[in-house]
Amino acid sequence: MQNIKNYCPECNEVLRGRTDKKFCSDSCRSMFHNRLKSQQSEVQKMIEGRLRKNRKILMGLYNNIASDLKLVPLKYVENLGFTFNFYTHIEYDTQKQMIFCFEYGYQKIDNHKVKLVKQIPFSEGVDIIA
Ligand SMILES: [Zn+2]
Repeated sequence: MQNIKNYCPECNEVLRGRTDKKFCSDSCRSMFHNRLKSQQSEVQKMIEGRLRKNRKILMGLYNNIASDLKLVPLKYVENLGFTFNFYTHIEYDTQKQMIFCFEYGYQKIDNHKVKLVKQIPFSEGVDIIA
């Protein structure tokens, strides 16, 4: 006879019956897995929130700069709360790296300036002017 008792990880009830049983019931099993899933999506929500905020900042700047050059001081982007290590993808225009948050992105011109870029939908190319 085994004396070690196993407990349901969801409700802490002592498990009876088969020794390989992991949960006391199907509803505890599904509650446990749903809770795990919702924890994962909290992380996803946090990352998506940052990406959405970054996109909003880039979009706002892109649409409000009348000049086709779309140049912005790096400090200005930072001050709006842009998080530089959160982005969706990287593309290259000749040698220059473009970092995107969805369809809006930027190219580092030097240590003080960035050029805003916008990706054309359903295309491999990037529209860097308008
Ligand atoms: Zn249970």
